[in-house]
Amino acid sequence: MLKKIINGTLLLPDGDSFRAGQADLFIRDGKIAGIGTDLSAAGTANDAAGENRPDEPCEVIDASGQLIMPGLINMHTHAYMTSMRNYADDVDFQEWLFGRITPVEDRLPKEGAYWTSLLACMEMLRTGTTSFVDMHMFHEQSARAADAAGMRAWIGRGLVGDSLYADDNPRFREAMEEMDAWQSDRLHFILSPHAIYTCSLHMLEQVVEESERRHMLRQTHLSESLTEIENCRAQYGGRSPVEVMRDVGFLSDHTILAHCVQLDEKDVSILAESGSSVVTNPASNAKLGNGFAPVTAMRESGINITLGTDGTASNNTLNMFREMGLLSLIHKGICRDSTAAPASFVVSCATTHAARALHEEGRLGVIREGAWADLAFLDLNAVSLFPNNNILSSLCYSANGSEVDSVMVAGEFAFRHGEYPGIDSEKVHFEVQKIVEEYL
Ligand SMILES: [Zn+2]
Repeated sequence: MLKKIINGTLLLPDGDSFRAGQADLFIRDGKIAGIGTDLSAAGTANDAAGENRPDEPCEVIDASGQLIMPGLINMHTHAYMTSMRNYADDVDFQEWLFGRITPVEDRLPKEGAYWTSLLACMEMLRTGTTSFVDMHMFHEQSARAADAAGMRAWIGRGLVGDSLYADDNPRFREAMEEMDAWQSDRLHFILSPHAIYTCSLHMLEQVVEESERRHMLRQTHLSESLTEIENCRAQYGGRSPVEVMRDVGFLSDHTILAHCVQLDEKDVSILAESGSSVVTNPASNAKLGNGFAPVTAMRESGINITLGTDGTASNNTLNMFREMGLLSLIHKGICRDSTAAPASFVVSCATTHAARALHEEGRLGVIREGAWADLAFLDLNAVSLFPNNNILSSLCYSANGSEVDSVMVAGEFAFRHGEYPGIDSEKVHFEVQKIVEEYL
């Protein structure tokens, strides 16, 4: 069926930036089939969609007073962690990770991870996110949740240890078996070694081989804290984590690196040369006392910078609007430069840059013909956005996520006027509360 969205304001691409435009949007088979003007009253939908199918039914969606923008792409999170929201705050990073979070992760039941991941999907949809990149203990539960919620996801099982193939370390084998069982346009899998301090170099080399053989993207946490840098240099002959990753062949244009906070100039140029994409997580990095990524230096070197929230145990929200605001404000502040991290760059990090990192450029994070109809509908009359003097500024500096009225993924509403068509929200609340009482 054709869908025709009329009377809305579209956030359209404009070179490296965006512009607001009044046009109708035509959607067929989950994708944007046409963008036209002055067609809302006429019966020319099929022509605008590029095909003449006079008998095709057409659903008309009135988006008066709304901005229709590409759905946001959260490039780094741990969806199952929602049960640990506000559970371990104001503690030292090493204590946070190894003393508080890891022990709870080890206790959490597999089935519970489905409900906590579904809660994460609810929060992401509620705040305009249509795609997320996940690292998960039970990645099949994350896939189930994304599928039920109607979201698009790139999901990886967090891998740790000395070898992918060790008998006592079934994570990789299980992940590949579970991955092969899934069939969905919206779900993708990604190889996800946890970090340089939880994986041996031998294992990282195995990950590189497997990801190249299987044509899969790979992601990891890199250069997050000063402790990681110090330990890495002590263990690996003075090399930084970036240098070690370069030496094992991990860095490539199929590589996604979360954090990259503690980089020196040499690290930045190695990353730029490798074509790797970086996910900056300003809230998590600040909250855990790890500092601020050198976003301006990375940007000037040509590194593809994307944006993520990290998990709710370290943020403590999955709201990409808050993350966009922080990205800009933090870097204007630390650079003492009000032109640093401008709104056009920030919105690009959450849309087009993310699509580039995922090798979905032109198909995701953009409103154009042929792209997936992954869209967020925002109320332009919301008190936080009105008056609409500058749409990009509205999204970066004013929006708090509450302006999101509806969200569509592949042409289907996954969130509509505050409701979730694919989710029993009461059941999710009940199950997550049960997990908190039993395991935290
Ligand atoms: Zn993480």
